[in-house]
Amino acid sequence: MTAETAVDRARDIAQSTVAASAAENDRLGRFSTDAFDALGRAGLLGMMLPAEIGGAGLGPRAMADVIAALAEADASVAMVFLMHTLGSLTIAAAKRTPALARVLVDIAAGRHLSTLAFSEAGSRSHFWAPVSRAVSSNGSGVRISARKSFVTGAGHVHSYVASALAPEAKAPTDSTLYLVDAQAPGLTVAEPWDGLGLRANASSAVLLEGCVVPNDQRLTDDGAGFAAMLSIVLPLFNVGQAAVSLGLCRAAVSAVAAHLKSARFEHLGATLGEALPNLRAQLATMQIETDGLSARVDDLVEHLERPRDMTLLRVLETKAAAGDIAIAVTSTAMRVCGGAAFSKRMSIERLFRDAHAGAVMAPTGDVLREFIARAVLGMPLF
Ligand SMILES: Cc1cc2nc3c(=O)[nH]c(=O)nc-3n(C[C@H](O)[C@H](O)[C@H](O)COP(=O)(O)OP(=O)(O)OC[C@H]3O[C@@H](n4cnc5c(N)ncnc54)[C@H](O)[C@@H]3O)c2cc1C
Repeated sequence: MTAETAVDRARDIAQSTVAASAAENDRLGRFSTDAFDALGRAGLLGMMLPAEIGGAGLGPRAMADVIAALAEADASVAMVFLMHTLGSLTIAAAKRTPALARVLVDIAAGRHLSTLAFSEAGSRSHFWAPVSRAVSSNGSGVRISARKSFVTGAGHVHSYVASALAPEAKAPTDSTLYLVDAQAPGLTVAEPWDGLGLRANASSAVLLEGCVVPNDQRLTDDGAGFAAMLSIVLPLFNVGQAAVSLGLCRAAVSAVAAHLKSARFEHLGATLGEALPNLRAQLATMQIETDGLSARVDDLVEHLERPRDMTLLRVLETKAAAGDIAIAVTSTAMRVCGGAAFSKRMSIERLFRDAHAGAVMAPTGDVLREFIARAVLGMPLF
């Protein structure tokens, strides 16, 4: 599968499967099983995995384009896809055991969905500092007890890439990553997810109570979880999250343009778009911001393909900017479309609600600003 094929397949699935059920899944808070069946059949669940285990070996550019296409139809689906992709890459980067190899083959075959379970009730958005600690279990593995505060896809995935302090951890960032089976005794999903936005992405809390993880499902060396979070997860999470924001902005521009072309002042004999220059100006601002975000995403992808001095700053800046841009563009869309957008007849209020998740998903916009300023001042980030 080439990058172009992957993006074409994502667009087809977005149109044929995802878009049609987005409003109803949002209303009901229902996870889109159909979307993930289709993405699995299309080979997209393993799009970034290495070819030797059946993946397509694609890079960040294809990932960002696929995610933006999915997010234009439903940001919840795009977010689950992003978390799965990051989980799959973390598993792929681990020392290959037969157990992990089986999981990777299943992912590439579209039969296995994974996710990240980093955030904890105790350390909140500071995902780099889990308060849970793995306890050695007779040398055959570890036991983990943790309250993971939000886990995208909870109850619908087959495995969780979870963090915990290493058994002998001395510092708050001495974590290890583990692959926890969804069926592991002691793992329960808390109450169903009922959020303001991303209502179809099942981001419930997950409770681990003495879950046993065998040695062959440990994903990093003890204490090396933090480095894996920063090197494998963070850059791709940030570009993927920015791509979700981009998809939301594009959807908002399309919805506003359609409304301005169809809604009419009959007494004036004109559409809203024909009658009101202030609405045209606001649509133009939305378009400018959306294309600006697109350029930022492209720039970050290019940095990830060819890392250099400014790459870390771009990683931090792009997600911070994307969260704010998505909120601004969808807020403008709400205003431009008036009461029609305020009612649930249009998709715009869903886009507006979904857009607000980006800034509070860790690393949050505030935390990113703190890191950016520290980087500019030459201070240590942590
Ligand atoms: C829809 C959704 C899906 C999610 N999915 C996942 C998932 O799949 N896996 C996962 O691990 N987590 C997930 N999360 C959790 C997410 O990544 C954050 O950890 C969570 O949203 C933080 O919420 P909190 O209430 O704990 O924030 P808090 O940490 O309590 O933050 C409160 C406020 O303080 C600010 N703040 C915090 N620290 C600082 C600082 N150092 N400097 C300045 N300001 C600061 C924050 O920006 C925020 O505005 C998800 C969250 C949501 C909303």
